[in-house]
Amino acid sequence: MSSVPQQPGGWWHDYVCPTHGVELGAREGNEFLCSYGCRLTGDKVEAAWLALEHQALARAARVAARRYALHGDVADRERAVELVLDYAALYDQISAGGWSERSESWMLRGKLLAQALSEAQWAVGFADAIITLGPIPELQESGTLNRTLEGLADTLAESRRILVEDRNDQRSNYTAWLDAAARLIALARESLGGEPVAAHFETAIVDHLQLAVRSDGWEWEASTYYHVFVLRAYLLGLRGVDLAELPDEVVDTLRRMIDVLVSIAAPDGFLPALHDGPYDRVAMHREVLEICALGAQFFSDTGLATVQSWVVERLGADHDGLEWMLDGWFVGAPLDRAPVVVGSRAFEDAGYVVLRDSRNRMVGILDAGPHGGAHGHFDKLALYLYGNGVRWQPAPAVPPYGHALRHSYYARTMAHPTVRVDGADQVEATAEITAWDAASSRVTAVTTTAIEGVRLSRTVQLADGLLADVVHVMCDDGEPHTIALGLRPAVDFSVRVDGNSWHSTWGAGARAAGSPAGAHAKTGEQAQPALNGWHWASSETTLDLHAGRGPSDDPSRLQGIGDWVTTAPAATFVSVYSFDPDATIDSIETHISDTAVVIEIAAADHDTSRIEVAL
Ligand SMILES: [Zn+2]
Ligand SMILES: [Zn+2]
Repeated sequence: MSSVPQQPGGWWHDYVCPTHGVELGAREGNEFLCSYGCRLTGDKVEAAWLALEHQALARAARVAARRYALHGDVADRERAVELVLDYAALYDQISAGGWSERSESWMLRGKLLAQALSEAQWAVGFADAIITLGPIPELQESGTLNRTLEGLADTLAESRRILVEDRNDQRSNYTAWLDAAARLIALARESLGGEPVAAHFETAIVDHLQLAVRSDGWEWEASTYYHVFVLRAYLLGLRGVDLAELPDEVVDTLRRMIDVLVSIAAPDGFLPALHDGPYDRVAMHREVLEICALGAQFFSDTGLATVQSWVVERLGADHDGLEWMLDGWFVGAPLDRAPVVVGSRAFEDAGYVVLRDSRNRMVGILDAGPHGGAHGHFDKLALYLYGNGVRWQPAPAVPPYGHALRHSYYARTMAHPTVRVDGADQVEATAEITAWDAASSRVTAVTTTAIEGVRLSRTVQLADGLLADVVHVMCDDGEPHTIALGLRPAVDFSVRVDGNSWHSTWGAGARAAGSPAGAHAKTGEQAQPALNGWHWASSETTLDLHAGRGPSDDPSRLQGIGDWVTTAPAATFVSVYSFDPDATIDSIETHISDTAVVIEIAAADHDTSRIEVAL
């Protein structure tokens, strides 16, 4: 009996509970379990499970082969050989039937899996197991395996031809995976005594890297997940290359790509989930860990130590140790190319500005760039806020793509801490960073295209223990419109009205009513650092607190959120956030005119700071 399921896989994004929007968990018989107790059945969910199971078993083959290479345990060798040969037999049989019939019309099809992309990812694991096992007789003498490797090489080449030539989409993140898989399959064939790997496989990877990565280091879609996705494909695909012989542009680009992750990481190492991608998913944490592990063989210092600690801790028992066994991925010693200095930083091309306080207690990220293709969100000028061990106002990311809430909520403006006018979503648009000063950690960004007939600008400044946020909205027609600024916490959230202003508490202490005005909540446990906000607006506004959704890892969980709403031709929303538990603020005064906002903050130690923003 084969050690692998004999049916082809579907699309893993269908492995989601339609009621709760969470990715499904274990399989029991013919039922697939949701963490809320739902038990789902049916062809679609089973095909999605198969897609994940084939990936998991390719990984199991890698783990067994790597463990055998390290420790020489015969049981590991047998397990790896069994999986490789069983998959060879399955692929041989399934691929004879041609392209997958489980694909949807828009998909670039695979054979074993609905998507060519998933097939490429599966093939990378399969090839790694073969290369690691080396030229052992069971593999070398298997005609089926040799046929399967040849067939896979053809499938990958044909998928790439359709993508690059017929669809003219070489820049696609799929290409990165098709190229990585093609090179590793060629390496696997070489390791079994086939032809040496042709140079064009490496050239393809280098070409994609030059095409798909922006000058500031972001993959062109500017989504954290797809950035990770493509970076990992490059590192995997460059297996066995001599680092000393890589062109400088390639080394520089990979350094910049890793520096993106170093620069955006929250103080505790959590990677903000900007645009499409999972919010908190085991498989992605493993992908990040693999980048940390391969990156550490590429550069002597990746700068990713905090990111690595976070994913290792989050994975816990879900970590099978594969990433610690990838030694010798490249030829030669890691390159000495220092990581970026962690601090406030503007990515002018992708349009993200990261504000980080000098003691690394808070990170604010302003989204002010291009839309980012099919994985972009309608979220221009959204402001995300992260602390150490707490995500006060995070980018919510999206549930598995098979769930309606991906488009009906999480990609939409309403899911983001930014502006809507007359209840409508923003449209696909670009914002522009119009002023940026790294020394004072201050940015201004503007968009005139996200909402027709409306100019939005947002200035954010990080001062000592404080973050000031000024949002200005102006409707061109001079008529009153309903203008709403979203507050989108992922923590306990409370608001109190105080005269013409509001005080908000995010995280610890939010439930403790009656904390003194202007002071930090001292009640409750302080395990999570709290964020305290003070809010003012230019005209008559209401801050409406209601139940909504939080981050996309659990869409059905109720979360208190806020919408700050006015009906006027123009509006200015001013917020000051304090995240320093040791600082006490005596008073904050705000003066809002048609042309400027002046904020004066008096601290308990009599220091006064003044922040002025021209509108
Ligand atoms: Zn459910
Ligand atoms: Zn988003």
